[in-house]
Amino acid sequence: MVENQIKARGIEDEKLLSAFSKVKRHLFVPNPTKSLSYSDRPLSIGEGQTISQPYIVALMMNLSNLKSSDIVLDIGTGSGYQTALLAEIAEKVYTIERIKTLSKDAENRLQKIGYKNIYFQIGDGTLGWKSEKNIKFDAIIISAAAPQIPENLVKQLKENGRMILPLGRHFSQDLVRITKKKNKIQKEKFGGCMFVPLIGKDGW
Ligand code: SAM
Repeated sequence: MVENQIKARGIEDEKLLSAFSKVKRHLFVPNPTKSLSYSDRPLSIGEGQTISQPYIVALMMNLSNLKSSDIVLDIGTGSGYQTALLAEIAEKVYTIERIKTLSKDAENRLQKIGYKNIYFQIGDGTLGWKSEKNIKFDAIIISAAAPQIPENLVKQLKENGRMILPLGRHFSQDLVRITKKKNKIQKEKFGGCMFVPLIGKDGW
């Protein structure tokens, strides 16, 4: 998977490649499709949701230019696969999922593997991380399709923070990177993609 799907498509960041080698995708794929765990495609995780294609996860992480000191917000925990990959590279990962069963299963899975730098919330991720403290993130990755840029998430980005999201219509989106500079946002597009919908206040 790492050689043929990720490296072969031009992703060379060693931190990223080693995270993908370390985190075993079959631990995040439910039984009916476990034998397809390393195939080049998204797979069902139940509740009408998917674990994304490995390459698209790698591409989003690559676009977010992660450093080991980064604090990351991951919207759409799903199976927890991308959360684990982020936790291999960044200092802390905060993750929000709207479907309780998926969040609880992912939390159990990630605790069992041994991650200590992941924090979970259940709810509408478009509202941002709920906390008494005014927490801000170096990077935000949204792995569900948004019709607009969620305002609360822009507020929770640090200066020079990056937000990666699929932005567009219900069945086709552009992969977009937002960079926050001096309270303005810069927007770049990186080709087409198709994600399940982001459901919530600033979603569908
Ligand atoms: N990153 C996940 C993984 O590695 O398995 C895959 C995520 S799946 C493509 C998208 C997830 O976003 C679904 O689990 C869905 O329930 C969740 N989602 C949709 N809208 C959301 C929202 N407003 N807040 C939080 N999670 C949301």
